[in-house]
Amino acid sequence: MASGEVISAVAMTEPDTGSDLQAVKTRAVLDGDDYVINGSKTFISNGTNSDIIVVIAKTGNTGKGSRDISLILVEADRVGVTKSKPLRKVGLHAQDTTMLFFQDVRVPKANILGGEPGQGFYQLMKELAWERLSIGILAIAASQAVLEQTVAYTRERKAFGKPIIEFQNSRFKLADLKTEIVLGRPTPIAAWN
Ligand SMILES: Cc1cc2nc3c(=O)[nH]c(=O)nc-3n(C[C@H](O)[C@H](O)[C@H](O)COP(=O)(O)OP(=O)(O)OC[C@H]3O[C@@H](n4cnc5c(N)ncnc54)[C@H](O)[C@@H]3O)c2cc1C
Repeated sequence: MASGEVISAVAMTEPDTGSDLQAVKTRAVLDGDDYVINGSKTFISNGTNSDIIVVIAKTGNTGKGSRDISLILVEADRVGVTKSKPLRKVGLHAQDTTMLFFQDVRVPKANILGGEPGQGFYQLMKELAWERLSIGILAIAASQAVLEQTVAYTRERKAFGKPIIEFQNSRFKLADLKTEIVLGRPTPIAAWN
């Protein structure tokens, strides 16, 4: 993965389960030295291009959602793995988003990530926090850059004989946007024009 030779995907979300990850229905049942996986996933980034898929599946039967979940590495060329066409979406067009189907897919039990079943939910909770934080940082940084460019433009662009930043409504709009960005940052910006 690090050298770019293998593309991976993480398959958590299902048609009926998104935020409530403990309710996933995809199941992996132990049969000899293999797990046999059945279920379907949706909205999977890199789904089309993936060579290896980290599948979130129920392996246990305790009824305590979090303890029954494992992460299983599934090579995308295994028999029973099917990929949909990339889903059409409004943005992020450079990144494919796909449905994945698993029908009686056999993988060796050694493919459990971390080597032990029942750890999946904890592994996800540990790593997803980073992902969520990075999305927040990216959104605020991009908004700030766009606002700075917009302020520069409104100083340059003239209408009715003056720069449009001098119109009261433009200033209200820019102030609203700046407020949202400042509120989204963990610490206030001391000096920011
Ligand atoms: C571009 C894109 C890429 C994605 N890539 C992946 C991927 O690679 N792998 C993967 O597994 N998934 C992926 N997803 C799916 C994503 O993780 C889910 O969309 C997300 O978990 C939310 O699930 P959901 O869409 O089913 O929304 P739902 O769970 O149905 O939630 C919808 C809305 O209901 C409300 N809601 C739900 N629960 C609560 C609650 N407890 N409290 C208050 N409000 C609540 C919130 O407003 C929430 O936004 C991707 C999605 C997109 C759009």
